[in-house]
Amino acid sequence: MTKYLLEHDRPNCIGCAACVAVNPKHWVMNDDNKADIIGAPRRPDGWEELEIEQGDFEDDKAAAESCPVNVIHLKNKDNGEKIL
Ligand code: SF4
Repeated sequence: MTKYLLEHDRPNCIGCAACVAVNPKHWVMNDDNKADIIGAPRRPDGWEELEIEQGDFEDDKAAAESCPVNVIHLKNKDNGEKIL
């Protein structure tokens, strides 16, 4: 099963909450009015990343496509290919 890496450029999130509306399984709003990937550690550069299973790919792709400022990205973890 392919694994994917869900990435969030959190410093550039504008807090519109579209990702939370589309995929509440992986996204939640924080008190600072930016979104968080649920359960994802925050990197020193402020980005968040979470390994996701193939079964969650379509819902996270929909969340990424809903983001008006394109700060949600998906990569194929097996070969490093950037999908979004
Ligand atoms: S859709 Fe994009 S800009 Fe809006 S809260 Fe989610 S990550 Fe932030």
